[in-house]
Amino acid sequence: MSHQPLRQAIDPLDPLHLDGLLSEEELLVRDTVRRFVGDRVLPDVGEWFDQGTFPREMAQAFGDLGLLGMHLEGYGCAGTSATAYGLACLELEAGDSGARSFVSVQGSLAMFPIWAFGSEEQKQEWLPRMAAGTAIGCFGLTEPDSGSDPSSMRTTARQLPNGDWVLNGTKMWITNGSIADVAVVWAVTDPEGPDNGAVRGFVVPTDTPGFSAPVIHKKVSLRASITSELVLQEVHLPAGAVLPNVTGMRGPLSCLNEARFGILFGACGAARACYESALSYSLERVQFGKPIASFQLTQKKLTEMAIAVHTGTLLSMHLGRMKDAGTLATPQVSIGKLNNVAMALRVAREARAILGANGITLEYPVVRHMVNLESVYTYEGTNEIHTLIVGNALTGIPAFG
Ligand SMILES: Cc1cc2nc3c(=O)[nH]c(=O)nc-3n(C[C@H](O)[C@H](O)[C@H](O)COP(=O)(O)OP(=O)(O)OC[C@H]3O[C@@H](n4cnc5c(N)ncnc54)[C@H](O)[C@@H]3O)c2cc1C
Repeated sequence: MSHQPLRQAIDPLDPLHLDGLLSEEELLVRDTVRRFVGDRVLPDVGEWFDQGTFPREMAQAFGDLGLLGMHLEGYGCAGTSATAYGLACLELEAGDSGARSFVSVQGSLAMFPIWAFGSEEQKQEWLPRMAAGTAIGCFGLTEPDSGSDPSSMRTTARQLPNGDWVLNGTKMWITNGSIADVAVVWAVTDPEGPDNGAVRGFVVPTDTPGFSAPVIHKKVSLRASITSELVLQEVHLPAGAVLPNVTGMRGPLSCLNEARFGILFGACGAARACYESALSYSLERVQFGKPIASFQLTQKKLTEMAIAVHTGTLLSMHLGRMKDAGTLATPQVSIGKLNNVAMALRVAREARAILGANGITLEYPVVRHMVNLESVYTYEGTNEIHTLIVGNALTGIPAFG
């Protein structure tokens, strides 16, 4: 045991010295994505948010950097560790939750099901282009009347005698829907058919007749991200459009677990951006003849924010190491999402208060993160649903219905 006197100083931007936990490869990924966000996201994201848009050309920029499907192997994917993927999500969301959402949806919700459950033909057709960002994917699970309980979905898949499929239904709140080239759509099969009414996944090119994806307008949150409805009216697909290697809710739920893992890291990025913005603002803003950072009430806020952001990041790192070791359990992903998104929202609100009136403008990143995090709190399993998943794991008693 060392009896050296403890050091007194800490780095305000890394107060728990979490950099010391990262490998060379992880530091490289982290620094590369941080630089990219600084160069390509931060200068324009306030404008995208203001205009309610996310430029399609960013897809190729993400692809060039190897961020799309980066934790998958083969088919042009980078094949990094899960922890490195998480760190990339953290840095992207320090820019904006919309940028991280794009990468999460493309990699974890659209590419992952094709990679994990698709036929070789489906993989060859879509994954290399999706990894490069020349084809954009979306994931259609939620419906107008089916959110937290996706097994109540009404979208149907009818199989014709020749093996072809016909899809009918409406999906809601679909990230990237209107700019997607391919949609992974989950639908209920015929109760009298060979799958006995089980949910199956379909790879649907968005130029298929009968498919349309109107944009959802008037969003106040996640504005630098495209959100759409998917309308499927007698969408006729060949027999080979079904994902052959998964049947039932295990398909969509395993995709959600992948994406939630990215989110539990990502939320720490949004929180970190808010904390750093509040820290620098408080050191510069003078009231009563002193920087506002010199007031005890401000220091209490900053201290609590620094602890929350960096213990949340430490939790993410721990869960990342478990995922890489193959020991991560679903309720542990829920613990991460539940803890880190709620933490990020609290930090964003405190940061907004420290910025005073400036805290409500898009000149600073804080209010943008604050309202974005309201979406992150709801999608990929609401706070309540993750509470119930953990509650079920602790007690053995499901309390969902
Ligand atoms: C910006 C954005 C992007 C999205 N992107 C996608 C996407 O790409 N693909 C996709 O398929 N979906 C997407 N979603 C949808 C998202 O996953 C759903 O909004 C989410 O699952 C919640 O469903 P809901 O909104 O219908 O809320 P509901 O399920 O109606 O829930 C409303 C409230 O009731 C609570 N509640 C529900 N059931 C229970 C219960 N048993 N016990 C206690 N409380 C309960 C919820 O926690 C919530 O507070 C997106 C949503 C947003 C906002």
